[in-house]
This record gives sequence, structure tokens and C-alpha cells, in this order.
Amino acid sequence: MTSIRETATAAFIEAYGDEPTGLWAAPGRVNLIGEHTDYNDGFVLPFALPQRTVAAVGPAPDGRWSVCSTLAPDPVTFGVTEPGEVTGWGAYVAGVVWALRDAGFEVPPVRIALASDVPLGSGLSSSAALESSVLTALIDLGGLDVPLERRPAIAQRAENVYVGAPTGILDQSASIRCRKDRALFLDCRTYRIEQIPFDLAAAGLAILVINSNAPHQHVDGEYGERRKSCEAAAAALGVPALRDVSTAGLDDALRRLDDDVLRRRARHIITENQRVLDTVSLLRSGRVREIGPLLTASHASMRDDFEITVAQVDVAVQSALEAGAYGARMTGGGFGGCVLALIDADRAEATAAAVAGAYEERGFTAPTSWVAVAGPGATAL
Ligand code: ADP
Ligand code: MG
Repeated sequence: MTSIRETATAAFIEAYGDEPTGLWAAPGRVNLIGEHTDYNDGFVLPFALPQRTVAAVGPAPDGRWSVCSTLAPDPVTFGVTEPGEVTGWGAYVAGVVWALRDAGFEVPPVRIALASDVPLGSGLSSSAALESSVLTALIDLGGLDVPLERRPAIAQRAENVYVGAPTGILDQSASIRCRKDRALFLDCRTYRIEQIPFDLAAAGLAILVINSNAPHQHVDGEYGERRKSCEAAAAALGVPALRDVSTAGLDDALRRLDDDVLRRRARHIITENQRVLDTVSLLRSGRVREIGPLLTASHASMRDDFEITVAQVDVAVQSALEAGAYGARMTGGGFGGCVLALIDADRAEATAAAVAGAYEERGFTAPTSWVAVAGPGATAL
């Protein structure tokens, strides 16, 4: 089978007629727990997928930037731009160049060809994988002094300001800072990280990722709505962010919110932050199996309080649990995307078959399932 790096190299040669001088890769991610908490200054716990985006890169003699992708083979070429000038998928790359320059760095002009096996638009963060591979290449090639801890925020600005997607810091942090066999415990207020041991195989366990393949609908609008509700709830409670309300203060906070929707949105964020902390404690002490109920509780909270699930992901969670999973939840921003299930390592096929059967019964498009192992973050190859 042709590897992604070979595909990226071939795409470079095809588009530009010579060999790339280097290859960089950055992974997609699944978030083990901590959904919509990132923009509430809270906690998240992603791990990197083995699936990744590879950027084959070479210098650009004309002093401009060019980028093509196996999904869009005609190169998009641009000089120094401001947000809005490059549109479409090329905006992710123009955005990274812009954000680096805006942070005061001299960005080397390059030609780039991208190839990826991260599913697009499935909540596994192909956009951050793209941004992080390009960002890492530009930093290495330019010899730029950008410490690892600053990089996610630069990639995030590319997506927030240049592309115009109001996402939090989770995706780019995961793609850049995750490590093999570790989950990344990130405090989205301070950017403090801790690498948490996450070697499931050693515990006889596995994470099955189930792509619901449900069509994404109204994602951007709903995402923006949830953000606004969280900000409104924090303002009503007189705190900088919902992160500042602990579970001890939950009942009091709920009493002080007079709007039922705001109350439920806030309850999701406040309880979800605590579930991340509880998951981290269990993982730190090697009690991996016991995180299952926290995953399932997170799903119920996303379904009932945050209202970001759809029938396909609810059915996947339910049938994975019925097939014996220790816990299961939707992962990613919602309205489709993927579900993860914590299972015994030898139950992957049976669980995937149970979910596929439930989908068939309901006439849903068939799901795609695979076992995910925590891989490395962005790197030169
Ligand atoms: P997700 O990050 O969950 O996969 P997004 O909507 O945030 O979904 O990002 C998907 C978008 O990112 C695609 O529509 C496309 O514009 C861009 N993208 C991601 N990977 C690639 C790629 N390899 N080639 C071209 N565009 C890509
Ligand atoms: Mg994305």
C-alpha cells in the first residue's frame, strides 16, 4: 500500500516538477473527554491518531507560497495576504503564513503538496492536522524560534481569524503537542500540559473509533450558538469563564440562572470539566477501565444538556454499550462525527459489527470503525 508520505511526495513532483526538500507530518486527534470545554477556559484530554496529514515542501524561487493537495491538485499561489484574500481550503495555509508573520516571524516562501488519511469533516480535526503540518514545516525551514507551547495559538489564529472558524485551542494543541502512548491533559486557560500515560494495550483494552458518517448539518451556526450561550451564562454568573464554577458551586450557579437553556449549557460545561479531572486521576493511577462510566456520562450530558448529538451518534453509543463497551461517547464538536468506545481489546470486531447492525436496521449510512492507538504529534519525517 502506498504510504501517505509517498503520496505527498508524488503529488509534489506532479504539481511542481521537482523533488520536495523535506516532509512534515501532523496527526488528527480524538478527544477522550472534555467537549466544548476548551473555549470555556476548561480542561480537555485528547490523544493523537495514527492518521495524519503530510506536507511535502520545497523552496519557492518566486518568493510566493504555493500549495496543492491530493484533494485539489491545482496549486493555489499567493504572496503576502490579509485575512479574506485567499478563500476556500487554501485559506488554511495562507492563514498559517499570515499568523506566523503577524506574530513577527519572517516566513520562508515555499511550495507545498499535502496528502492525508485523516477523514475530513468527521470531527477528527483534519483542519488542525493541515495547519500543524504546514506550521511545523515553516518553522523548521525558516529556523524560526517558536517554542512548542506558542505554536497551537498561532495555528488557532489561522483558523479563527483567517479561515473564520471560531474554534477553541483543543485541535491544534492536540496535533502539535500529543505524544505516543499518552493522552494530553491540557488546561485551556494556562496552556499548562501534562502527558498522561495511556497505553491501553498493556491493560488489555482498546479504543474503538466509530465514524458515524452522518452528514454534518448547521455545524458552524450551532457551534457559534453554544459559544454565545456559555459566554452569556458566565456573564450572568459574574465569572470570567464557566471554568471558574466548580461542581461544588454547581447548584448555586444553576439557581442563579433563570433561563433553562443557559442552565443546561452551563451544567454540561461545569460537569464536563470535573469529568476530565476525574478521568485524569483514574488514568494516573492506572485504573483505565474505570473511566468508562465517565465517558458515558459525558455523552448523556452532550445529548441532554448541550444538545449537540444526532441520532446516528446516540445509536452508536447505545449499541457499543449493549455490546459490552465499558463506556462510549461522541467525540468532537458534534452534529455527527465520531464516537469512541472503551472496550476489551478482543471485542473490536464484535462491537463494530453490533454498531453496523444497528445502523442497518435504522437505514443509516454504514459507519466506519477502527481501533485507535495514541500516536505522536507534529514532526519532521
Ligand atoms: P475537521 O477538522 O473536523 O476535519 P473542518 O471543517 O474543521 O473539519 O476542516 C475540514 C476542512 O479542512 C476541509 O473542508 C478542507 O477545507 C480542509 N482540509 C483538511 N485537510 C485537507 C487536505 N488534506 N487537503 C485540502 N484541504 C483540507
Ligand atoms: Mg477542524
